[in-house]
Amino acid sequence: MQKKFLSFAVALFAVLLVLFAHLGARLTASAPVFSLAEEKRIYLTFDDGPSTVVTESILDTLAKEQIKATFFVVGERIFGREETLRRIVKEGHTVGVHSYTHRYREIYASDEALLADAEACAKLIRKTTGVVPAVYRFPGGGEHPSAAALLRQKGYRIVLWNAVCGDEEIKNADAATLLQTALQTAKGKEPVVLLLHDSAPHRATAAALPAIIERFRQAGYVFCAF
Ligand SMILES: [Zn+2]
Repeated sequence: MQKKFLSFAVALFAVLLVLFAHLGARLTASAPVFSLAEEKRIYLTFDDGPSTVVTESILDTLAKEQIKATFFVVGERIFGREETLRRIVKEGHTVGVHSYTHRYREIYASDEALLADAEACAKLIRKTTGVVPAVYRFPGGGEHPSAAALLRQKGYRIVLWNAVCGDEEIKNADAATLLQTALQTAKGKEPVVLLLHDSAPHRATAAALPAIIERFRQAGYVFCAF
């Protein structure tokens, strides 16, 4: 009787051992799910486009790397580049409003002027792509509280940035400088919202993009779009 009980206990222990080992393996396998909150995120944001060569080249890189980004476009620059804008949407990126004219004096003349300018850009995006844009970035940056409140009422989320690649700040910066500037200014930011430009003069930005993606990926970042 005692012997029978002993073998039963051993069998039960073995079953429990297998069960726990299995459960442990499952927990280990699903561990990344629980660490999502600690995941490092970077948003690549491109302002001032669309352009023809630079935007298309950036789209090629993003497609190759299977990354989604956000493009804050200038309404006036859409003319003649409708296909590029449609490609941005078709490939799953986010299109945001970055004004119709990018002319500070006109846009910042009053909150009403800014709103009318934003709506003109949004209308053209909608007409060209069918998408209603829901994110906005102020030309030249800044927070502009009263205009921001009006934009929020219209349903826009205002997107600032906290890191730059230096393609506007550093004159004639080459791809290596842009990469270093992006890495330096992104240090300690969570999430990183990186400002880049895809307007016509910024071939160096397009050239730097593969290395920027590679280095942030190596550092454990996940790429996000707004
Ligand atoms: Zn701009």
